[in-house]
Amino acid sequence: MNVVPNSSLDAEHVLRMKVAACTLMLVHEKCMNYSGHVSARLPDGVTFLIQPIDVPRSGLRPDDLLVCDLDGKVLRGTPGAKAPAEVALHAEILRARADVNSVAHFHHDLTNSFTLVEDMPLRIVKNHAIRWRSGMPVHADPAHVATPELGRAVANTLGAHHALQIRAHGQVVTAESVEAVLTDSIHFVENAQAMHNACVIGRLAPLSEDDMESFAKYFKRGRHVDKLWRYYIESGQAAGVIPADWQI
Ligand SMILES: [Zn+2]
Repeated sequence: MNVVPNSSLDAEHVLRMKVAACTLMLVHEKCMNYSGHVSARLPDGVTFLIQPIDVPRSGLRPDDLLVCDLDGKVLRGTPGAKAPAEVALHAEILRARADVNSVAHFHHDLTNSFTLVEDMPLRIVKNHAIRWRSGMPVHADPAHVATPELGRAVANTLGAHHALQIRAHGQVVTAESVEAVLTDSIHFVENAQAMHNACVIGRLAPLSEDDMESFAKYFKRGRHVDKLWRYYIESGQAAGVIPADWQI
C-alpha cells in the first residue's frame, strides 16, 4: 500500500479546493459549461487531480476529484467514478511539459469561431494576451481527445506554447498553477471577445511587437495572478458560487 505523507495530503487538500473553485468560477464566468475540466499536478509530479466524467461542473466539490496517473488511470477517488473522456489531453500535456502544473480545457464557442474562418486567426488584441505572443496554435483534428495517442498529438501541437485551440471543439490553456490557469483562461476568452468586437467596428489593428514589449516591461505576472485569483474567489464567495469556508 502506498503511504501518502501528511504534508502531501495537506497540499492535496488545498489543491482540491483550488481546482473546484477554479472550475466553479470558469462556469460562473461562462467560459466553461456542461463539458470541460481543470487538472492540477500533485506534489509528487507524476499524478494529478481531475474531476470525474459525470459530475456537473457547476456543482463540483473538492472530494469529487480523482487522482490519476500520467496514463490517465484512476488511482484514487469515489468507488466507481470514472475519469473524463478527455483525461488523456491533460495527462499527455502534463507528461510533456514539466513547466505546466495546471491545464484547463473548455469549449467556448465565440473563442472557437476563429478556428472556423479563413484568413482570420486569433490575434493578440488585449494587453494581457501577450501571454500567448509565442503563438496560439490550432489543432486541426476536432476529435474528442479520447486516447493517449490523441493526447500526444495535442501536446505536440501545443509545443512550448501556453494555449491552443482545437478546431471546431474548444480551448486548452496551460499554466504554472491553478490560480494562473484561471487568470489565463479568462484572459484568453476576453481577448477573443475583444477581437470579435473590434472586427465588428472596423479594421483590426492587433498589438504590434513594440506594443507587446512596452506592456511586458512593467507587467508582474505573479502579482497579477494573485490579484485576479483574490478577485474571483471573493466575488464567487459573495455570489454564493464558492462556499465561504473554503480557505484558498
Ligand atoms: Zn473537449
